[in-house]
Amino acid sequence: MTKILVIAEHEKGAPKKLTLNTLEFARQVVAHAGGSYDLAVLGSGVGGVAQALTGYGADAVYVADHPDLAHVLAGPYAKVIADLAQRAGADLVCMSASSAGKDVLPRVAVRLQAGMASDVVGVVQTAQGLAYRRPMWAGNLTGDVVVETPVQVVSVRASAFDALAATGGASPLVEVAADPQAASARVRYVGFEGVVSSRPDLAEASVVVAGGRGLKDRFNQITEPLADLLGGAIGASRAAVDDGYAPNDYQVGQTGKVVAPQLYFAIAISGAVQHLAGMKNSKVIVAINKNADEPIFKVADYGLVADAFVAVPELVGKIKALRA
Ligand SMILES: Cc1cc2nc3c(=O)[nH]c(=O)nc-3n(C[C@H](O)[C@H](O)[C@H](O)COP(=O)(O)OP(=O)(O)OC[C@H]3O[C@@H](n4cnc5c(N)ncnc54)[C@H](O)[C@@H]3O)c2cc1C
Repeated sequence: MTKILVIAEHEKGAPKKLTLNTLEFARQVVAHAGGSYDLAVLGSGVGGVAQALTGYGADAVYVADHPDLAHVLAGPYAKVIADLAQRAGADLVCMSASSAGKDVLPRVAVRLQAGMASDVVGVVQTAQGLAYRRPMWAGNLTGDVVVETPVQVVSVRASAFDALAATGGASPLVEVAADPQAASARVRYVGFEGVVSSRPDLAEASVVVAGGRGLKDRFNQITEPLADLLGGAIGASRAAVDDGYAPNDYQVGQTGKVVAPQLYFAIAISGAVQHLAGMKNSKVIVAINKNADEPIFKVADYGLVADAFVAVPELVGKIKALRA
């Protein structure tokens, strides 16, 4: 029997979809091992977020509301989460493998003396017990990991799990007295410079239009009209980022974001293994590349050998004509 504590992530007063994906992971663990899950909402003025999460089958929604938790800082968050895990009697603490999850969870694991599995994409029953499936070696291998400590910590690759649908019911809200101060001293929040965009978040978009080095300084000119037409987010290869054609937060891949949209356009991207690690689980992959021998075509559902500077504007024109 497992008691799971799911750490909710939220933005602008609403739960992020990542939280629902992480809840689906928790549901799968419960389906294999029995037990139940609680949710934890940390922040300042987060009553509305907690309320919005009461319909997802948690035994309790813990609310740690404190001014020092207004911004996700790993030290204070890890302390409050570890305190809460002990209070809830949790033997598994999980959160999505977002930037925040990657920052916070290892510290939680240290505080709880827990073994940790990162970037988990599945839950499997093995002869050795319940195992967490996770990619290794830039996604070239998939390993099943059994964590042997009494308390476990898991970061969940959100794109590998569907969002848990609301189950109905009403989990009780439990206010907890959070004490982040002891861990606040060494780091101070200065500011947040977010990218202002009307496009969907890259990690959550159902369509991603990604461009590579081949687009050169016409990166925006080629990717933006197609992304806007399809309501998609824009992604990029690392080479496009390194060469200054696309901003850092567009990067998809081993050292960028991991995405699994319904539709992924790889335009002038060669398909290096490090790029594939971030997008190969996309439902439908369309590759446009002028070189037919590139490895991107091995993972593509649809491949177009063409000059992107000609083919993409033509595609945009055709979609517009069809819609008209
Ligand atoms: C430790 C490590 C981590 C890494 N992490 C990442 C990562 O997270 N994400 C990532 O993407 N990479 C990552 N890389 C880099 C990766 O190995 C590749 O170098 C990179 O993905 C290549 O990007 P690219 O396909 O845009 O560029 P290139 O390999 O240079 O390919 C450019 C492509 O554009 C095509 N092209 C050129 N002109 C046109 C045109 N007019 N029309 C159509 N096609 C055209 C070419 O045929 C070619 O296929 C990492 C590497 C290392 C070592």
